[in-house]
Amino acid sequence: SQKLAQFDPEIAQAIEEETRRQEYSLELIASENFVSEKVLEAQGSLLTNKYAEGYPGKRYYGGCEFVDKAEQLAIDRACTLFGAEHANVQPHSGSQANMAVYFAVCQPGDTILGMNLAHGGHLTHGSPVNFSGKLFNVVPYGVRAETGLIDYDEVAHLAREHRPKLIVVGASAYPRTIDFAAFRRIADEVGAPVMVDMAHIAGLVAAGEHPSPIPHAEFVTTTTHKTLRGPRGGMILCREEFGKKLNSNIFPGIQGGPLMHVIAAKAVALKEAQSPEFKAYAAQVVKNAKALAEALMECGFKLVSGGTDNHLMLVDFSGTDLTGKVAEETLEKAGITVNKNAVPFDTRSPFVTSGIRIGTPATTTRGLREEQMRKIAAWIARALESVGNESELTIIRNEVQELCRQFPLYAHRLT
Ligand code: PLP
Repeated sequence: SQKLAQFDPEIAQAIEEETRRQEYSLELIASENFVSEKVLEAQGSLLTNKYAEGYPGKRYYGGCEFVDKAEQLAIDRACTLFGAEHANVQPHSGSQANMAVYFAVCQPGDTILGMNLAHGGHLTHGSPVNFSGKLFNVVPYGVRAETGLIDYDEVAHLAREHRPKLIVVGASAYPRTIDFAAFRRIADEVGAPVMVDMAHIAGLVAAGEHPSPIPHAEFVTTTTHKTLRGPRGGMILCREEFGKKLNSNIFPGIQGGPLMHVIAAKAVALKEAQSPEFKAYAAQVVKNAKALAEALMECGFKLVSGGTDNHLMLVDFSGTDLTGKVAEETLEKAGITVNKNAVPFDTRSPFVTSGIRIGTPATTTRGLREEQMRKIAAWIARALESVGNESELTIIRNEVQELCRQFPLYAHRLT
């Protein structure tokens, strides 16, 4: 039984280098997080060997007795945590969770309302380059230019005009609280079901830091790996009456065998999310985002909507020479990882953009608080004033690494 490092030194080295990168840089990508050793243990388990097409108690394979237990635990914990009637924990990703709901509710060619990708929506909410935009007639809604807030009047107007078969709510780059009740009222007026994709905010919802979409939506989809801090994957919550139809649209509809090791890891993460520690964590994510947003604005940066209510913010460089692309590359050299992101009404291409998206879930997991957020804002400002100044960026990088050493993450895994 050779160790991985002996058998496959190239892959072992890639893992070691990625561990080092996560350990010694500041992860500010809003959709990322660091899972616990317990989640890693479950995901790295031999449950990966098991085929289990079907659902607990109703499988197409023998030998499912123990994976049934794991999946039922994940289902029960998801329902308890979010107050849902039915959960499907099999989606391999957030995209597949959304696809299954679309297929449960719509036929190809039907009209769906979804948030514009350029205004903060997700690819699967109807982008023309995604299956959602190719299979369905998508009517996009967006934010108001003056406020950066979702234009609920526009949503109502579009819903009345287009009579969608489904209203999709949720975003990948929206820094404010979403008013689910407002979407429900609009949907009821036109007789459409609502799907809330809470991927980004699931951990905040679990902890009561963002209002829950559950009372307002027929379907709630999520990823499990963002603020919820579980393994990479998806999940769907819905009312009991839609459970059967939904399940059959995941399997056999769009997936084969579920990833039982990932489902076990989802169960572990859902158990962690029920703890008082997780509640405190989610509260700190929001406090850190507020502190970082305020400090960035004090440094002179403009934020879309003028701040944040949740775990993320969008820095808006429009009207300046700086682009999202250059900012992302410059910050990377300073040991700070963010992603370039279009701002609403961006005039630059999606490969360049006029903004960056910054989030606090990952840095909060490693223990950083408001004091360190103010430090990070100062580093971001210094780095973005030092575009092309390699020696200054190296100095910042060293300071960042010093902070990372004070807040170890997976350091014990490094050889
Ligand atoms: N929905 C939202 C709102 C997201 O932000 C994302 C991921 O970025 C997804 C769905 C898709 O998740 P996945 O990358 O697991 O397919």
